[in-house]
Amino acid sequence: MRLGRVELPDDAPFVHVSLLQERAGNRVRCLTCERRCLLVEGGLGWCRTRQNRGGRLFTLIYGAVSSLAANPIEKKPLYHFRPGTHCLTAGSWSCNFGCPWCQNWEISKRPPPATGDYVGPEQFVEMAVRMGCEGTSISFNEPTLSLEWSLDVFRAARRRGLYNTFVTNGYMREVALQLLAEAGLDAMNVDIKGDGESVRRYCRQVAVDRIWSNCRTARHLGIHVELTTLVIPGVNDSEEVLVGIARRIVTELGRETPWHVTAYHPAWQFQAPPTPRAALERALRAGRETGLHYVYVGNLPGHPAQNTYCPSCGALLVVRSGMSLIRSEIRGNRCPWCRRWIHGVWEPEGQQQRKETEATWTSSN
Ligand code: SF4
Repeated sequence: MRLGRVELPDDAPFVHVSLLQERAGNRVRCLTCERRCLLVEGGLGWCRTRQNRGGRLFTLIYGAVSSLAANPIEKKPLYHFRPGTHCLTAGSWSCNFGCPWCQNWEISKRPPPATGDYVGPEQFVEMAVRMGCEGTSISFNEPTLSLEWSLDVFRAARRRGLYNTFVTNGYMREVALQLLAEAGLDAMNVDIKGDGESVRRYCRQVAVDRIWSNCRTARHLGIHVELTTLVIPGVNDSEEVLVGIARRIVTELGRETPWHVTAYHPAWQFQAPPTPRAALERALRAGRETGLHYVYVGNLPGHPAQNTYCPSCGALLVVRSGMSLIRSEIRGNRCPWCRRWIHGVWEPEGQQQRKETEATWTSSN
């Protein structure tokens, strides 16, 4: 719990009753993420986006948009979900992790400002439709902090036939994940930052098992899940850590789960040199030798491991360049040459396809 100067009046558009909370004597517990902060009157949570006002918890960032962009879905990265489409992406402020290398630190390390742009959920979805986007994404900073706004956006987006995605550290409470799934969350990319020790140490007392548990729950809720590891020299680039992550993906989620290993650049408080190509290729090898079918190298333009290959016959199925889809040969979720099922949601009517995919990989793992 942090005490903070309250600058936002109660009737400011960003101030909204927090959905997941419980009274604990004269304090309030936030039940949005696994930090479960206990806030005294006037106090702020660890993330500084929630505040106890008169014994009730409020979010201070409902509709507070720090960044807005129509992104290719490949940028999330989500490679096995509606390739070639665009999603209107919004970020807000702050984070519930303390990673010193944050690549979006300009917004994630800042508490919410007292003023800024307010975007209502219906307005956001209308913008997405007008910009020709097929979906929405809540990203850039940790989207769990924008739970209430995300739920309203997802419901509105579903009514307009759009898909919904999250790019997250996966530290929400399970009940929040269930609410997101009910509201229409279709796909998420979860950041796997390292093994238990590195995550606890660098991200400030985070229990990595909760993240894995949420990934499993998301799969059971029918949410398409891909994982990303930002490979950082000296933090998570050893053979031991990379093989450990790959094995855990196989065990917890199955070999079909896409794993993106991406290059880091020095940012904020962390000044180790950028990830060398050799470290990314070590991660790629660790994933493939452990048995993962889809391992992708990111932030290294032109690398052949940005493409998708059939795990059975090795055919080149999806060609990408940077953040763009160049071409996909996948038809009806199958390799056109050997007819193997390719995990993912490749076409708009993909909900049905995804379920069949999961049944296939579950029985084969
Ligand atoms: S969202 Fe998480 S970090 Fe923020 S106040 Fe709630 S429990 Fe604490």
